[in-house]
Amino acid sequence: MRIFWKKLKNLRSGYSTLWRLAKTYLVPQKRYWMWGIVSMLLTASSTAVLAQYLKPIFDDIFIGHRQDLLVWIGVGVLGIFFIKGAAEYVGERCMSAMGYTLSTQLQNDVFGHMIYFDLDFFREYHEARCANIFSQDIGIVRETLLQSLSALSRDVFMVLSLVIVLLREDFFLFLGAICILPIMVGVLRLCGRNAKRIFLQIQNQTAALQQFFQQVFHQIIMVKAYGTEEQERHHLKEYTQCILKEYKKSAKIQAIIHPFMEILGGLAISGIVIYGGHRVILGAQTPGSFLTFITALFFLYRPMKNILHVHTRLQACVVSGERILGLLDKPLPLETKGGGQKNSAIFSQDITLENVTFGYSPNFPVLRGISCVFEANKQYALVGPSGSGKTTIFYLLLQLYRPHQGRILFSKEEASLCSPQWIRDNIGFVSQDITLFDTTIGNNIMYGSAQASEQSMREAAELACASSFIEQLPQGYDTPVGPHGLKLSGGQRQRLALARALLKKSPILLLDEATSALDVEIEERIRQGLQTLSYSCTRIYIAHRLSSIQHVDKILIIKQGAIQEQGKHLTLLKHSQYYAELWKQSKLKNGFMPIS
Ligand code: ADP
Repeated sequence: MRIFWKKLKNLRSGYSTLWRLAKTYLVPQKRYWMWGIVSMLLTASSTAVLAQYLKPIFDDIFIGHRQDLLVWIGVGVLGIFFIKGAAEYVGERCMSAMGYTLSTQLQNDVFGHMIYFDLDFFREYHEARCANIFSQDIGIVRETLLQSLSALSRDVFMVLSLVIVLLREDFFLFLGAICILPIMVGVLRLCGRNAKRIFLQIQNQTAALQQFFQQVFHQIIMVKAYGTEEQERHHLKEYTQCILKEYKKSAKIQAIIHPFMEILGGLAISGIVIYGGHRVILGAQTPGSFLTFITALFFLYRPMKNILHVHTRLQACVVSGERILGLLDKPLPLETKGGGQKNSAIFSQDITLENVTFGYSPNFPVLRGISCVFEANKQYALVGPSGSGKTTIFYLLLQLYRPHQGRILFSKEEASLCSPQWIRDNIGFVSQDITLFDTTIGNNIMYGSAQASEQSMREAAELACASSFIEQLPQGYDTPVGPHGLKLSGGQRQRLALARALLKKSPILLLDEATSALDVEIEERIRQGLQTLSYSCTRIYIAHRLSSIQHVDKILIIKQGAIQEQGKHLTLLKHSQYYAELWKQSKLKNGFMPIS
């Protein structure tokens, strides 16, 4: 009994997913589904009328030789086919339009929701998994939900109207014909249950395959450099073999359904032919009436099969629908609810970190009790070994993560009470991993500052020492940078990222090893440019080379997530052994420092 309830509960939850999708995305499309229903009603009833028409054709014309009816019956048949054709055309158009509207709205909703998730979500969900939900799952929902809906509406109407015809012609013969129905339902339910499990496997493994594929393309230089083509080919084979195995299982289920239904159908029809033929020979039924019955039964076979098949077909839709709704149901971080217009002047004042503690996982703190003040319009540098938590401090300032303890204040305003979007609007940021979009140089610089003028874009490029190389390119600012900016060198990409941050003219600038790929001469020119910004700006650098930060107002040495020492360059040289050692190494290596 408990197993029965469990099964019933699973069935209900699967169908509630479908109902939710239909209610949200199909029900509002009133115009389409109303016309769709009308057209399906017409298709269904014209099929039934066609079957019914055989009776007068056979009894009155072939046997009764009634010449007067011949033309009318011809016109009638033509009319029925015309109505059926027109109705099928309207039905098909409505269904396709509904399907494409559904997938467009789902894509908008999924992306519109997903883009606001915090970084934890993107760390957990690989981009290929998101892309898989976005394209494959939505495609499956469109196809299967619509196919099943049309099967359920057109074919249910058709079955109903054909059943009326069958009942009118011979009630007992009809009862005999439907005896096979429970066996069909039982087998199809069994197939449906297995199909759901297989569809889930296929969809998960396809997502993993896409993930693998993207990763290989992304790391193609490493694959070539380490000669791992064969190894990757082998990996791909493992993924595709797993998927193939599941597809074969699914094909076995799909393939068994059809012949099974054919055999059962054949069994019913052969019984009816024997019994009905006997009745016609005895004169208990006219040949026309029997022909109408048997034709209606033939017509009934396909829609009946479609309806019974719907449950199996819908299992793929349930799996995809659950993944889509699972994503849409994920609550957005509280941050998006903040906002409101506040006074942006707070960002031109001091930034205070009070006893900030944070870790990416709860039990592994990366920052431990950081307290410091970044005074307005001054320059700071964070220095320390790789993995000591410097970049994490930037992430916390950008509100990409929230401190577990302590607080961050912009002027006297607590960051956690402000809208993160508002904070980010006031921060220019260049990360270690330069990200360029597959568009032109100009569009990349303007990213996030769409309102900026062309003149200011060129000024920002000048300040970032990017204009010299851009202007040498044949298409200048209209040059496409290629996927991930691969058509540019590392140093050129860095300069574009810097120009993008400078174009924002924000009161806070965070530069995470923003000039590490540049030669010392260009780095020095950029450094000088940053000294003379025309607007008030608090600048914090994470430095690769000590020579590039010796001028700043304060250097903070971060070790194991805590501030170990702080002061000006000369003070640290005198009092910090660690800093003096770094400086010595830096000088030895002619300005290059091997930290982080
Ligand atoms: P730094 O900038 O000083 O090199 P980070 O702030 O990047 O150091 O990293 C500090 C620590 O946090 C490192 O031990 C690193 O492994 C860990 N870390 C960084 N990013 C993540 C992340 N997204 N998830 C888990 N751990 C992370």
